[in-house]
Amino acid sequence: MDRDDYCGMAETLLLTLCDSIGARPVGSRENREATELFSAWMEECGFKVAHQVFDCFDWKDHGTVLEAGGEVFEVFTGPWSAEVDFQGGLVLASTRKDLEGIDARDAVLLIRGELAAESLVPKNFPFYNPEDQRKTVSLLEGSGASAILAATGCKMEINGACPFPVIEDGDFRLPNAYMTESEGQRLVEMYDGGQLSLRISSSSSPSRACNVVGRKGGPGHRVLLIAHIDSRSEGSGAIDNAAGIVALMLVAEMLQDSDMGPAVEMVAVNGEDHYANPGEVVLLRENAGLLGDIVLGINIDGAGYRHGDTAFSLYGVDETHTAIVKDSMSAYGIIEGDQWRQGDHSLLVQNGVPALAITSAELVEIMSIAHSPDDVSDVVDPCRLVDVAHAVVSLIGRLSGAGQAINPSSSD
Ligand SMILES: [Zn+2]
Repeated sequence: MDRDDYCGMAETLLLTLCDSIGARPVGSRENREATELFSAWMEECGFKVAHQVFDCFDWKDHGTVLEAGGEVFEVFTGPWSAEVDFQGGLVLASTRKDLEGIDARDAVLLIRGELAAESLVPKNFPFYNPEDQRKTVSLLEGSGASAILAATGCKMEINGACPFPVIEDGDFRLPNAYMTESEGQRLVEMYDGGQLSLRISSSSSPSRACNVVGRKGGPGHRVLLIAHIDSRSEGSGAIDNAAGIVALMLVAEMLQDSDMGPAVEMVAVNGEDHYANPGEVVLLRENAGLLGDIVLGINIDGAGYRHGDTAFSLYGVDETHTAIVKDSMSAYGIIEGDQWRQGDHSLLVQNGVPALAITSAELVEIMSIAHSPDDVSDVVDPCRLVDVAHAVVSLIGRLSGAGQAINPSSSD
């Protein structure tokens, strides 16, 4: 196949994931369709396929309505929020001090100012959970409020949305919704001390989801190639991260007749955009004691953006192998970009696995598109994913015979 053929294949796969299937939140039917597609493709390409299954919920938003003082306000359902149909009062808080000893029984608690300045880390988030945020969460849950409303500014670097959800947590006990600062201000002005009415409609049903693991080659040392397959419900999760999944599928296609190089394991990880990272937790659990086998971990996320360059960054990789990576990447026009500390490769890095991340150089633009309705197939250039796949295949070939981890500190 020549480059045009691969571009056509990449485009078909991208459109299947983004347009035929659509947004792929963990636990949804669409998410299952995507993992089935990936699984069948890996098998077709001669990879041995395994599924790492976990329980989860299929959550759906059915809209939120807020009325007070005869006015209707624009509000958005907090992701994973429970339902509520409430009538009662309004209580305000802007600082954590305001929350201490607050009594918001029979009321909706409106948080704004510094309390609503950033998203709170989910209660059971496994990889990072600062003390002061845990304290805020417990004060909110202990407030007695019937629901939490957050009035927020914008947070472009997180999700490109104004307003943004302060609470994104299926384990948070109180129903919650969010609105802009100006709608929050209007609510405070219009609220006349009488009845406020808040109706949050959502549904949540038990479901299952899985990581899909495709493996080629013998036991022992391996190159681990990962991309997250889940998305948020906004848009169709094209740059975040159907693009990465398409790149993995192309690599599988290119490697199907090849026996060269170390063992290759490809994982469609299911949870990067979920509040509790369930797929990432399962992946680490399944790899307990085996991470030292990984010659190089490669994460593809946010790659293939139409504008600017495709970029890579390296973490804990020794000099010799850094040169090999740079060479393989530059041969396909992929430049060295900024360090990027989020993303699934950070799990590998934290566990001493040398890692390569492949994304797009215009990270700020990507962050404003990801998690928004703008994240649709048009933002991705399928041919750029072909270049990524070729670069990765070339790199894997050059790691051939690399019988030890390429991070000197972990080659014990
Ligand atoms: Zn994301």
